[in-house]
Order: sequence, then structure tokens, then C-alpha cells
Amino acid sequence: MKAKAYLIKYAEIGIKGKNRNTFEQALVDRIREACARVEGDFAVTREAGRIYVTAQSDFEEDEIVGALQKVFGIVWICPVVQVADHGFEDLKKQVVRYMQEEYPAGNFTFKVKSRRARKSYPVHSQQMNADLGEAILQAFPAARVDVHDPQVLLSVEVRDNEINIYSRQISGAGGMPVGTGGKAMLLLSGGIDSPVAGYMISRRGVALEAVYFNAPPYTSDRALQKVEDLAAIISAWTGPIRLHIINFTEIQLAIYQKCPHEELTIIMRRYMMRIAERIARKNGCLGLVTGESIGQVASQTMQSLICTNAVCSLPVYRPVIAFDKQDIVDVAERIGTFDTSTLPYEDCCTIFVAKHPVTHPILHIIEDSEQKLADVSEEMIEKALAGDVVVECRKN
Ligand code: ATP
Ligand code: MG
Repeated sequence: MKAKAYLIKYAEIGIKGKNRNTFEQALVDRIREACARVEGDFAVTREAGRIYVTAQSDFEEDEIVGALQKVFGIVWICPVVQVADHGFEDLKKQVVRYMQEEYPAGNFTFKVKSRRARKSYPVHSQQMNADLGEAILQAFPAARVDVHDPQVLLSVEVRDNEINIYSRQISGAGGMPVGTGGKAMLLLSGGIDSPVAGYMISRRGVALEAVYFNAPPYTSDRALQKVEDLAAIISAWTGPIRLHIINFTEIQLAIYQKCPHEELTIIMRRYMMRIAERIARKNGCLGLVTGESIGQVASQTMQSLICTNAVCSLPVYRPVIAFDKQDIVDVAERIGTFDTSTLPYEDCCTIFVAKHPVTHPILHIIEDSEQKLADVSEEMIEKALAGDVVVECRKN
């Protein structure tokens, strides 16, 4: 009895009151997009506060479940066996057969939970629970009923056109459907942290665009490719990402020539934030996202963060701010970005790096140092923005 349908369970979007409809519709849209990436035809339907994905053709269970597991907003995916209604005696046989296939060992504790969406069904749900339970006990001498904490919770639902039987639930990605939380601009480097930060904020329903600052010829095409690859990997969850590629060489060289070397990283990060904010505003993004974590490097102390934050007026979201490196690595491994992030290609930050960067920068001192660029600053920023190249990164 192969499952041909999946009942999609969601949690948090259920509590959104009047917005519930918007959230459910967004979830259905994201599920349809996920189904479109898998071989086979699937119908996605919303019925009475439930979402079903029903196969209309042959398909691979692993593929569809894998795709659904990447849809934010889904908490559980329940493979459902659908049987035709040939009377209650036949249903008993079908249920026993289902249990034999799913739990052949037979020594489980269980509870039957019946529901009649079609109220005209001749057996009441309480009676269904009792009689189906009885049929299972007869077929499995080692099984026991446990209504409080059963190992197997068997759901039987009578619907208009068929009867659903399910008991397994596969965990989903949680969070909120992408798009329900607006859009943000992710500062995406080739490192470990920023792809994880993007994944995490997207899990809260935020769609992403991204910006990468490269510094040719000091950074290579391979470094750029790595960033595009990272965007494509996380796009399996976040949806396609428009990646803005900004040539940062001139700005980096100007900073290097005119500003104190121990302040290079901070000033460079301030320019990144300024440019990212302008691209964000132009593209309808409501915030910036970075992979910063307190104390991880000199530019990520709380004093440094004051200095980089000071140039933006959009909120800056830092989902991994309180994560240890190992916590971030764990997520990176789980979502499949780690191996790409650790490829040894140079990053623009590592090339113009000072031996002894300031760890406790003071804002007005940094602002004074930046004055040395005052006459070229706006021109350099505009030039960098004018050269913005956009590539769409998606999982193929
Ligand atoms: P990551 O692992 O994300 O590169 P990191 O620990 O190397 O982070 P930094 O190099 O200080 O930290 O960068 C801090 C944050 O600034 C990054 O997480 C990223 O959001 C952003 N950033 C750094 N370099 C770039 C870049 N070349 N292009 C776009 N964003 C960048
Ligand atoms: Mg980095």
C-alpha cells in the first residue's frame, strides 16, 4: 500500500488570525514550487485547514519527501494511504493490511484516531476507533492499546471521495513560508557564516537577495563561482536568489592607500554596508543580513559592530550573532554549504588584511580616518553601484 498523498502539517502559521489565509496560500505556493522541481505530477489542495499533496502520476517517494522537507512552514509530512470506501468491513481489512505492511514486527502499542469529514458515513468515529482497534488486536496478538502514549497513532479519516490512513510523520523544516516576512539583502561572502545566516533568516519567512563584493584581479573567478554555488545551495530552501556582484577593488585600494592599516577591515566593512543598503532600498529589501557573531574576529566585537552599524539606517539582522563557531559549522554541514564554504579561494577581506587590526575601534576615530576619502567617497560608491552585475542563483 504505497502512499500516494501527503498530509502537510504546519504549526505557527495556524495562529495568525486574519492573516491565516495569506500564510496558508503562501505555503501552498511554496509547496507547488517544490513539487515542480520533482519528477511527476502532484496536486496541491487546501481543504478545511489542511493541505494535501496528492500524486497524479508515478513518482519517487524520496524525491518528493526531500523536496517537501525544504519548504519552510512545514512541521510534519505524513505519508497517507488512500483507500476507496467499500463499506466498514472492508475498511477494517484495509487498516489491518496497512498495519501489517508498516509494522510487521507487530509488538507495538497503538491508538486509533478516526475522523469523519463526511458526516454521512454510517459508523460514528468513537465506534470506528473501537472496532478498528479490535480488528488490529485480533490481527496482532502482541499489540496493545495505549490511549495516553501510543507508539503508533493511527489516523483514519473518512473524506468525500476516499478514506485516508496514516500513522507516520516525517519532520519538516519548520519556520514560516518564504515571502510572508518580506525580503532582505544578505551580504554573502564565500565563508561559512553568511550562507547559514541567510538560511536562518529565510526560515522565518524572509525572501532573500544577496550581494557579494569581489576585488578582481586580487580575487579570482573561482572565488566568485563559490559564492554563486553557495547561493544556489541555500536557494533549495530560500527560493531563487538574485545575487548582486559588486566590484570593490577601487574602494579597497583607496582605503589601503589612505587609511590606517589597523582600521582597514572596519572601514571596508562600513563601505560594504553602505553599498548593500543602497542596493537593498532600491530592490525593496527591508533589512540587511550578515553572518557576524560576537567576538569571532576583530571586526565582530561589540565595539566594531557599533562602527559598522553606524552607516546604515535599515535594520541589520545577524541570525548567528550568539552562535559559537561550531554551532554555525553544524548548521552549515546539515544544509550542505560547509564543503563549498571551506574551499580555499581568496576572499577580498583576507587580501587587504592588517597584521594587528583594532579590536576596540572608537566610532569618531574611524569617522576621522574615513575623512581622508571624503572627496572620492560618493563617486566611488556610485561607480561600484553602476557596475552591479546581477545573476540569478537557483538549484537546478
Ligand atoms: P563569513 O564566514 O560569512 O565570511 P566571516 O567570519 O569571515 O564571515 P567577516 O569576513 O568579518 O566574517 O565578514 C562578516 C560578514 O560580512 C560576513 O558574514 C558577510 O555577511 C559580510 N561579508 C564579508 N565579506 C563579504 C564579501 N566579500 N561580500 C559580501 N559580504 C561580505
Ligand atoms: Mg568571510
